[in-house]
Amino acid sequence: MIHHAVHTSRPDIDCVAHSHSIHGRAFCTLGRTLDTITQDSCAFYNDHALYSSFRGIVLAEDEGIAIAEALGNKKAALLQNHGLLTCGKTIESTVFWFMSLEKCCHVQLMADAAAGGRGGETIKIDEKDAEYTYKTVGTEMAGWFSAKPTFDIMENESGVDYKW
Ligand SMILES: [Zn+2]
Repeated sequence: MIHHAVHTSRPDIDCVAHSHSIHGRAFCTLGRTLDTITQDSCAFYNDHALYSSFRGIVLAEDEGIAIAEALGNKKAALLQNHGLLTCGKTIESTVFWFMSLEKCCHVQLMADAAAGGRGGETIKIDEKDAEYTYKTVGTEMAGWFSAKPTFDIMENESGVDYKW
């Protein structure tokens, strides 16, 4: 229901990833989007959404459509009380965005906990620098390229040639 709705509303993408990874799932209980606190999180600067509704396991068509509407034209969505979703023009970029988003959630959970424990807050990247960095690390090509080493390893270890 989720994948079908996103593919229907986003003819510009060819892949959607969704899973209940542990750090994404933990971060998605907070009901907020990521702060831009690392170079890696700049890939999601103004390019991820929060879907703040949770109405049980997604078995109904209207819930998938609501998730697709929340995602809009962005590359990722945080599904509150649920997990992460990413999309892209290629399998490589989509998988990289997913792995990176999961790590960004992990980093922010640790950084917020450490800062909070010292009575402070994390230092945010300013908007101008976040936007500039986004244009380098947040593009479809950057996602594809960043995934390539992982896909090369998988191909090598599996002994199967996936190139086409
Ligand atoms: Zn799910």
